[in-house]
Amino acid sequence: MGYWEYPPLADKYSIPLVVTGFEPLDLLDGIRRAVIQLESGRHVVENAYSRVVTFEGNRAAQKLLAEVFEVTDRAWRGIGVIPKSGWRLSEAYREFDAEERFHIAGIHTQESALCRAGDVLRGAIKPAECAAFGKECTPRHPLGATMVSSEGACAAYYNYGRFISADELATAGSGLSGAAHV
Ligand code: SF4
Repeated sequence: MGYWEYPPLADKYSIPLVVTGFEPLDLLDGIRRAVIQLESGRHVVENAYSRVVTFEGNRAAQKLLAEVFEVTDRAWRGIGVIPKSGWRLSEAYREFDAEERFHIAGIHTQESALCRAGDVLRGAIKPAECAAFGKECTPRHPLGATMVSSEGACAAYYNYGRFISADELATAGSGLSGAAHV
């Protein structure tokens, strides 16, 4: 997708954005660049993954995506509906849309009343601040999206930090380095 869509976001919300890869050094470089911007009061888009990502991205692929899909409102687990946050098949490909074909557009996922995944996803709380963390909710019996996925914040806190105290976890601003004894 490139990153041509990001500069207006960095401007509008006054936040630094850094494109990074997935290797440890890529992540560290991305974090470092974001921190340097924060400390100097700048907010631009930087590309720390230029060996793969270009500003324009793959225009041919983007053209195909624009032909096959169209932007639509989507419901996100733990958060609710976000306008224009998803894609659905475009009119030309609508016959392949399972929601239309099997009349299942109205399926509603029941979220657990205990789960605060929306707050975790928005950064409003840390996983250990959810009362169900490690009790009613574990990777074996997840109550929400952030525990279902092994990459979810709740699962990561559970796998790497569940034996340190909730207070320590809740205040661990820079991650889980204190959880090395787990
Ligand atoms: S610990 Fe479980 S119940 Fe609590 S927010 Fe995370 S996924 Fe939801």
